Amino acid sequence: MQIFDSHAHYNDEKFEMDREETIKKVYEAGVKKLICAGYSLDSSIEAVKIANEHDNIYATAGISPNDIPVFENENVDVKDFFFEDIMNEQLKKIKQLVEKNHQIVAIGEIGLDYYWNKENKKEQKLAFINQIKLANELDLPIVIHTREAVMDTIDILKNQINVKNNGVFHCCPLNIELIREALKLGFYISFAGPITFKNSKNATEVINLVPLDKMLVETDSPYLSPEPKRGTRNDSSNIIYTIQKIAEVKNMSAEEVAQITYNNAIKIFKINVNWCISTDDVLLFLYNKVKSYLAIFLICWNQL
Ligand SMILES: [Zn+2]
Repeated sequence: MQIFDSHAHYNDEKFEMDREETIKKVYEAGVKKLICAGYSLDSSIEAVKIANEHDNIYATAGISPNDIPVFENENVDVKDFFFEDIMNEQLKKIKQLVEKNHQIVAIGEIGLDYYWNKENKKEQKLAFINQIKLANELDLPIVIHTREAVMDTIDILKNQINVKNNGVFHCCPLNIELIREALKLGFYISFAGPITFKNSKNATEVINLVPLDKMLVETDSPYLSPEPKRGTRNDSSNIIYTIQKIAEVKNMSAEEVAQITYNNAIKIFKINVNWCISTDDVLLFLYNKVKSYLAIFLICWNQL
């Protein structure tokens, strides 16, 4: 079975003590590739480090709505000034990180979260839009985090900015309206543990709504363990429960769901295309070629 966990956080401190053993266990469980997702500047740097150290692990870089700068005690003008300044500085560093590391396959997770933060909606929207601009500039897809912010998320994607390289709704909320609009815009829907929860009333309806060619699976480890592992630290080996749930609803085998979602992840994150050739590599190759031809030419010239 080929499994692609499209979103996990092995950069989280919960894996600090046993990261290597866990990653080994995950590979043994049939997970062939995974994406380690950044959510702040530091966690993006850590995600890249992990991706650099392991084959078949890729990274995303971005600032999540819960990690954008906050200035609770400042007045409005000062707040605006500091926010834009610090945000731009962080985005400059994210851009440099992407330019140096070809394992970064998307800008994310970015988006809106009014569940944890209701006070800074304006800043969240600005950070979201600016990071979509960055993804467009860098030619990368986006990974969206949205929680209790359906209308504003749709409004931004539909009316405020064009997303050039598509994207994924990570751990997509089981909200019919959001999913309908996301699919209309061409986005991928990534399902995580919550579709297996006993209290998720509309999981079946939502799974049926999403066509197989637009579906991904993820764990969001170390969070959101699926049933029957709910409440424990999650890792990518538990993704099988999410795959089985989809297989049951779609009346397919788990292997088929795993393979289809694996192929979709390869496609959206351009895994085979992006992974190792940089402009520097091409220039170096050409330089070495020219150098060797020149050497042969000079040897022949001297013998004339
Ligand atoms: Zn996440």
